[in-house]
Amino acid sequence: MKCEILSIGSELTSGQNLDTNSQWLSRRLAEIGIAVGWHTTVADDLDANIEAFRIASRRAGLVLATGGLGPTQDDLTREVLARVAGVELVENAESLRQIEEMFRRRNRTMPQRNRVQALFPAGAVPIPNEHGTAPGIWMRLGNCWLAAMPGVPSEMHAMFETQVRPRLLALGLGGGVLVQRKINTFGLGESAIEEKLLDLTRRDHVPEVGITVHDAVISLRILARAPTLAEAQAQIVPVEQTIRQRLGPLVFGADEEELQDAVAALLESKRQSLATAEGVTAGLVAAQLSSVPGISAWFRGGISAYDNRLKVELLGVPQTLIDSRGAVSAEVAEAMAVGCRTHLRTDLAVSTVGVAGPNDGGPDKPVGLVYVALAWSGGVSSVRFSWTGSRAEVQRRTAKLALNQVRLHLLGKE
Ligand code: AMP
Ligand code: MG
Repeated sequence: MKCEILSIGSELTSGQNLDTNSQWLSRRLAEIGIAVGWHTTVADDLDANIEAFRIASRRAGLVLATGGLGPTQDDLTREVLARVAGVELVENAESLRQIEEMFRRRNRTMPQRNRVQALFPAGAVPIPNEHGTAPGIWMRLGNCWLAAMPGVPSEMHAMFETQVRPRLLALGLGGGVLVQRKINTFGLGESAIEEKLLDLTRRDHVPEVGITVHDAVISLRILARAPTLAEAQAQIVPVEQTIRQRLGPLVFGADEEELQDAVAALLESKRQSLATAEGVTAGLVAAQLSSVPGISAWFRGGISAYDNRLKVELLGVPQTLIDSRGAVSAEVAEAMAVGCRTHLRTDLAVSTVGVAGPNDGGPDKPVGLVYVALAWSGGVSSVRFSWTGSRAEVQRRTAKLALNQVRLHLLGKE
């Protein structure tokens, strides 16, 4: 049995809005062991909707639709479902009462148009909506089960959690649970990481281990399917241990943890203060650090020294060094970090310089060339890296590289 998720709305097919409902629903369904075979997105068009529901009800055992339940003329889901099921639309008195009640509570009179929201294909069951006017629709369509829910994400989420999921579980549509664990790494490329884990990432491995890349962060996704949560977790634990053993300090966190979270935790445990001196990233490292609650105890702030004059006047970088080595050099990055640490009186300072592009910085300064330096009480060091990618990608990845240098230093594994 596979589920099809049908997202309805011309704002989605036109590219104006991103369909986030499918992603959210797929994740919730995975948690109860329901596999999703299709994501379909369809415009507010009668014929296209009829066809989409026909196809979905033929190939899927469960169809979850969102959108098109509003009171306006472009909202067609009710009518479409009646047509595909070959039945009439009939008014449901209880639903009409609830919609009227909703307006009364908001001190508004109900426009006549909203009456259509109490219409349901004959035989369908209304799903109450506690957060909006549009009730959902629960029905059989051919050989499949169907739930139509509002498009507004918050209303849909509440309706799924309280009304739809219990129905799916009661029908026994879920086949056990699916649990995901993400192990996040930084410092090696995708294939180099995979080389260390080839026995785990092979196709028939249980649990499944996949690799995804996002802005130079390589994540291992462990996906366990089992009859119970405990069994799924028991599959994950030894695999996570193996990954952590083999990758060592390349691993910086799990699930939604970011590099700045790892840095924040280490600054706290080693009681070290930090400041930033940013050229090419112009404040991105500081902004990412500031996203962590409680970081103000250890992160003092930073200097966005984009122009060379500021590198000299605020960070004490010798003008002669910039003239002889160029701003994008290990020497200047190191001088920025040392100057920052001295001027801002912190235990650590990290700096970035580089060529974000799209124009290069001369024959020996190609787009993507960056240096990150770290200064501490015992000295200063720097790393050089060449990224490929757009201006924004070079900046984001360099910010991550800077955070990672701080992390490695604090781990004592620089
Ligand atoms: P509707 O229920 O079709 O009137 O949708 C109401 C609003 O919900 C739309 O204008 C969108 O802003 C939002 N919405 C509808 N479908 C989706 C979706 N699949 N993902 C994210 N937002 C959506
Ligand atoms: Mg719509």
